[in-house]
Amino acid sequence: MLTRRAFLTTAAGGAAVLAAVRSASGAQYDLLVKGGRVIDPSRRFDAMADVAIAKGRIAAVQPSIPASAAAEVVDAAGALVTPGLIDIHTHVRTAEMPGICLSQGVTSLVDAGSRGADMIDSVVGFAKGAPNRVRVLINLSRAGVIDEGDLMDLSKADVRLLREAIVRHRDTVIGIKARLSRNVAGDHDLEALRRAQEVARPLGIPVMIHIGQTFSTVPQLLALLKPGDIVTHMYAFPPNPIFDGKGGVLPEVLAARKRGIRFDVGNGRTGHFTWDTMAEGIKSGFLPDTTSSDWTDAGRAEHVVDFPNVMSKLLMLGVPLMQVIAMGTSNAAATFPAFKGLGTLRPGAPADVSILELREGSFDFIDNVNTKRSGHQRLFPRAAIVGGKRSRT
Ligand SMILES: [Zn+2]
Repeated sequence: MLTRRAFLTTAAGGAAVLAAVRSASGAQYDLLVKGGRVIDPSRRFDAMADVAIAKGRIAAVQPSIPASAAAEVVDAAGALVTPGLIDIHTHVRTAEMPGICLSQGVTSLVDAGSRGADMIDSVVGFAKGAPNRVRVLINLSRAGVIDEGDLMDLSKADVRLLREAIVRHRDTVIGIKARLSRNVAGDHDLEALRRAQEVARPLGIPVMIHIGQTFSTVPQLLALLKPGDIVTHMYAFPPNPIFDGKGGVLPEVLAARKRGIRFDVGNGRTGHFTWDTMAEGIKSGFLPDTTSSDWTDAGRAEHVVDFPNVMSKLLMLGVPLMQVIAMGTSNAAATFPAFKGLGTLRPGAPADVSILELREGSFDFIDNVNTKRSGHQRLFPRAAIVGGKRSRT
C-alpha cells in the first residue's frame, strides 16, 4: 500500500512506477468514488474529495483524482461519501435481510440476540452468506427471542450451551445479548446478567443489555457490566431510565461511561425512546456512542425505515452531522474488537464506503410512542461499497 507521499511521487513519476500498483484490470485503481463531500469522522475529515480503491482497500483520498486512473468510476456528485455504515443492533431473521440493509447503505451489521444456542447455526448461516459483513451476538437464552420471554424460565440461560455455541462460531459470534426487560426476564434480570458475564469474561467478549422496562434499576444493572459492554435503548423511558429527574443523567451512568461502557440508541418500535427522552439526553450532553436501528420486519416499515433514517433523527434534534456519522461508522467500529480497522476511510483500510444524500426539505420521523416530528434534513442511501465491491441501491 502506498502512502500519500508515495502516491504523489508516483503520480508525477511516470509509467514505470505506476505499473507497480496497477490493479488486475490494468488501471491504477479498481474503483474511484468521484466528486463527493467526504466525511470521515475517524480523521475529522470533511471536504470535497475523491476516494480511490484498489484490491479491496482504500488507496487514496485526495482533492482530485483523474477518472482515467480507475477501471470504474462512481459518480458521487451532490452526495456524501462516508466510511461504510455499521448498524450494531439489528435482527437477522431471513437470508435476504442483510442484502436489504446493504441496499440502504449498511456495509456491516450485528444481529443482536435473535437466536440462542439452540438455533445459532441458522443466523450464523445467514451471516456467512451475506453480501455485507454480518456478525452475531448470541442470546443468553438458549431459545433466543421468544414470545413468552427469552429468560422467563431462567434455566434457559444455560451457561454451558452458551459457551459451546460461542466457541464453535468464534469467527461470527462476537458477543452476548441479554434482553432484560421485565416481559422478557421477569424479576431475575440480575442473575441472568451474572450468567452472561460468567461466559463473556473469560472469553473477553462484550455483553449488550436492554434497559428501561427492567425489574432492577439502571445502577444495579450497570454494576454488573465491564468495560466494553453495551447498553442499548439508552433513552428508554420509565420505570428505569438513565435520567435523574433533574435534567441530567444518573451519576452511575456517567461513571459507567467513564469506565468504558458504551451507550447505544436502539431505535426499535416500542418502549425504547420518545422525542422527549432523546432530546433530554442530548440536552444534558449525554450523547449516544452509537445509534442503531433494532431492525425487525415489524419495526422497519414505519419506525426504522432504513438506517440513514434512524441517523437523521439525531440530526433533527441538533446533533452535528460529523457526530451523527461517527455514531454510525467510527464509533460503531470501535464497539467490537471484531470491527477493528472498519469505520474509516484511512488509506489501507478495507474499502467499505457508503454514499449518502443529505436532502433538504420536510421529513417526518416517529418515536416509539408514535409521535410524529418533522425535520428539515434526511439522509438517504444512494450506494454502498463492501471490500471494494460496489452495490447499487
Ligand atoms: Zn433488539
